[in-house]
Amino acid sequence: MSSLYFDNSATTRIKPEVLEAMMPYLKLEYGNPSSMYTIGRSAKRAIENARINVANLINANPNEIYFTSCGSESDNTALKGIAYKNREKGNHIIISKIEHPAILNSCKALEREGFEITYLNVDEEGFVDLNQLETSIKNNTILISIMFANNEIGTIEPIKSISKIAHNKGIIFHTDAVQACGNIPIDVKELEIDMLSLSGHKIYGPKGIGALYVKNGIEFESLINGGHQEKGKRAGTENVAEIVGLGKASVIAKQGLNTHIRYLSMLRDYYVSEIERRIPNIVINGPRNKWGLDNSLIAKNKTLNQNYLQRLPGNANFSFLDIEGNTLLLKLDQMGISASSASACSSGNPEPSHVLTAIGREEATAKSALRITFGEDNTIDDVNYLINCIEKIILETNK
Ligand SMILES: *Cc1c(COP(=O)(O)O)cnc(C)c1O
Repeated sequence: MSSLYFDNSATTRIKPEVLEAMMPYLKLEYGNPSSMYTIGRSAKRAIENARINVANLINANPNEIYFTSCGSESDNTALKGIAYKNREKGNHIIISKIEHPAILNSCKALEREGFEITYLNVDEEGFVDLNQLETSIKNNTILISIMFANNEIGTIEPIKSISKIAHNKGIIFHTDAVQACGNIPIDVKELEIDMLSLSGHKIYGPKGIGALYVKNGIEFESLINGGHQEKGKRAGTENVAEIVGLGKASVIAKQGLNTHIRYLSMLRDYYVSEIERRIPNIVINGPRNKWGLDNSLIAKNKTLNQNYLQRLPGNANFSFLDIEGNTLLLKLDQMGISASSASACSSGNPEPSHVLTAIGREEATAKSALRITFGEDNTIDDVNYLINCIEKIILETNK
């Protein structure tokens, strides 16, 4: 049986067009982009073209895009790069309690170096406490970093309100948009975002490539020192093929965004309504109200705006109280289904998810969570099979 994949927040399958775009740079176009001769210049052109494509996905200027090795490196660079650059100004950073480990652990490392971190609370649906954000700001606050969308429960944070609060006090605002990118519209200019992290493998591109958007005028310390690549901000001979892959994935994501949102919302809304109808003893984790887009807005052909969305289109997270999450996962795996209990980064960790704990779930509820994240390869038949399997497993458990 071929596996049915419902873990698209952990990673996505690379698109054939993306792989095809990368191949010449793995085979024939092996020149060093820093070299003057023809194959070097052609690699350089490919990188600059990819930079334009990534910039277009988030409405940035191409010279505001820095390629990195992954979303985690982008997050590390944003947090540490700003912290080290602004050491003289202050040592206080504000993040939320539900950030990805790349942010949380960067902050833990900074704490060991004497920086002070405030971890903002979130409400029962995962939205950050904006009042606490305002009262947490101090004279020595140098950075606010709040994720665009949460990888476990799909909560889309009120990014524009957060950037406004930050800028009223002259503080730099970074957002980890690894989950949001390619799943909802992002416009860094409209949302007044100073820095943003994204990753290739979450948007049907290759693993091991990321980008950091840094608004012109914002200075940060480089974490990888060496040659002059990426304007001296990220040394190392460029990963040309992967950069080209990220560029291609960005073009496809932008072109297909409205269709993508509608299709994933449809699969997710169907799954949610069927689970609620057929399975007893369940708790929804994440925003309840706006499960998807306001369809009347699509009908009127208005531009899609992140304000209309409170939850990632493909994300569904239920705690099935009758069964332990890992048991459910193993049984689903035996039926050919790949899903996740919390996030890929925390599997194997016996502690309950820090995100589910932050939204107030008790340990047992947190440990019975099943995260389903739909992707473009999933069909409605796949979703029906998934629901039938969950129902069967729970019926057997309760016999
Ligand atoms: C996956 C993910 C990351 C890390 O990206 P990598 O490219 O895997 O390093 C960071 N933040 C969030 C929210 C993610 O989902």
